[in-house]
Amino acid sequence: MDHKEFCSHIQDFLYDSLDDNTLNEFLEHMDSCADCRDELSTQYLVYEGLERLETGATFDVDKDLSEIVERERHRLRTRTALTHLATAAEIFTVTLFCIVMALLRFY
Ligand SMILES: [Zn+2]
Repeated sequence: MDHKEFCSHIQDFLYDSLDDNTLNEFLEHMDSCADCRDELSTQYLVYEGLERLETGATFDVDKDLSEIVERERHRLRTRTALTHLATAAEIFTVTLFCIVMALLRFY
């Protein structure tokens, strides 16, 4: 993912609507690019700051944003683990089926 693509996905990231692959690339680029991290902070400030101004709630951009990033990372890890688990379950079922079929031939 390049800078331009990253910037075009910032809104979707903040609205929690990126698909897994895009989210993964987004987080990878964010880790390796200080410019884009700054851009994300700026856009987050505008996105969240306006709302907080109205309610008068206190607002710590870096802390809040890093919480969102951690939440997204966790979500991505959980989903990747679930995909692996589903694949493993499928392999297990097919293997079991083959064993049962093989056993049936002997009886
Ligand atoms: Zn960048």
